[in-house]
Amino acid sequence: MAATDSPAVAAPSSTVARAKRKASETPGRDALERVKTRRRAGATAAPVDAVPDDVLEVIFGHLARDSTPREYHDATLTCKRFRDAGTSKRALSDAGERVLATRAKDWNNGASAFADAAVAAGSVFASFFVGSVKFYAAKTKEERTAGAALLAKAAVNGSPDAHHTLAIMHFNGSGGRRKDKDPEAGAALCARGNILFNSVPAKRELGHCLQDGFGVERDVALGKKLLVEAAAEDTQTPAIDIAVSAATAAAAAVEERLRKRNDINTLQEAVTASREVSNAARAAAREHLHATPENRFLLDWFNPDVCGEVLPPGMHACSHPLCGRVETRRHEFRRCSCCGRVRYCSRSCQSLDWRLQHKFACLPLLELYGWMESDAESVDGGSVGPSPPGSPGGADFGGASSAAAAAEA
Ligand SMILES: [Zn+2]
Ligand SMILES: [Zn+2]
Repeated sequence: MAATDSPAVAAPSSTVARAKRKASETPGRDALERVKTRRRAGATAAPVDAVPDDVLEVIFGHLARDSTPREYHDATLTCKRFRDAGTSKRALSDAGERVLATRAKDWNNGASAFADAAVAAGSVFASFFVGSVKFYAAKTKEERTAGAALLAKAAVNGSPDAHHTLAIMHFNGSGGRRKDKDPEAGAALCARGNILFNSVPAKRELGHCLQDGFGVERDVALGKKLLVEAAAEDTQTPAIDIAVSAATAAAAAVEERLRKRNDINTLQEAVTASREVSNAARAAAREHLHATPENRFLLDWFNPDVCGEVLPPGMHACSHPLCGRVETRRHEFRRCSCCGRVRYCSRSCQSLDWRLQHKFACLPLLELYGWMESDAESVDGGSVGPSPPGSPGGADFGGASSAAAAAEA
């Protein structure tokens, strides 16, 4: 494509002057005038010259929704008009998941400036993405407050994911103290996300709330209905089912090998064995699942092998392998009330992680080896579907668990 600053044939100067006058009166008309002028002069118009500036901005908006950061950047380098269109508010307001999904290890001032420009232009995804990262990776109270404000902005502008994240922040009192927990506000955000945007994560979280009576009046049947609906609507469900099958098969193979070895004779050896089984399940599940951009960024950010950002002492990350949320104060996340060895930011994370791996590392396996007696049946409390027996579930997330209470004390 020819750039507009290198026309194929020079037009008569009077015509150019007229075209320039028109352009100043009517934005976007200058390109059309240039093309008409060239046609009168017998030239063949280059296609890009026929595109008015405002249309070019819309085209870049489409590009901002679907291209990778490199593709977008390369396109803006084509010529000055492309650069102007690519950095225009109209185009950047459409910046989406792909163009902003720079990996944490590649994050630099340019990526940061681009994300900030997209936020300023009004991109809803940019507000959600930058808000999530700022909130959970914050080093100062100001950064955390700025992150929360961006998440609120994204929610107001219709981001279903921001509704879900804000709900979890309310459930946990994230960024504040324990007394700042507000389950009712969290449940209300989930209900809003479900009704207004048909958000699957919000629906799933609300289903768990209803089952546990957490932030809403308990309604086990309605909770189960929402969980079933969420599973049916979730485009991730087939991938999750495949991941669960793969994890189960991998765990069974390791378990069989360990049993043949027949050298698990102490509780510590049983715990170590269960961890080995669980790790095999986790690795197999990971082959089939992908973290969402904000989770992937946070997972890399706090991964010692990638960015290596260190959490403050006593703080933990969510144990779900695809969740990047981290505690904003000590003992914020609830522990598994059965084994106390894993922590989750939310019931959704706990529930899915149970299916993927934790069931192999929690009490049932230790019970399997004959070392501990599980009270799984009595703690279950009417959970359905993927909800784990003896999980943090109703008790911890309802705030009545002795384990959680002891942890919070
Ligand atoms: Zn989580
Ligand atoms: Zn457990």
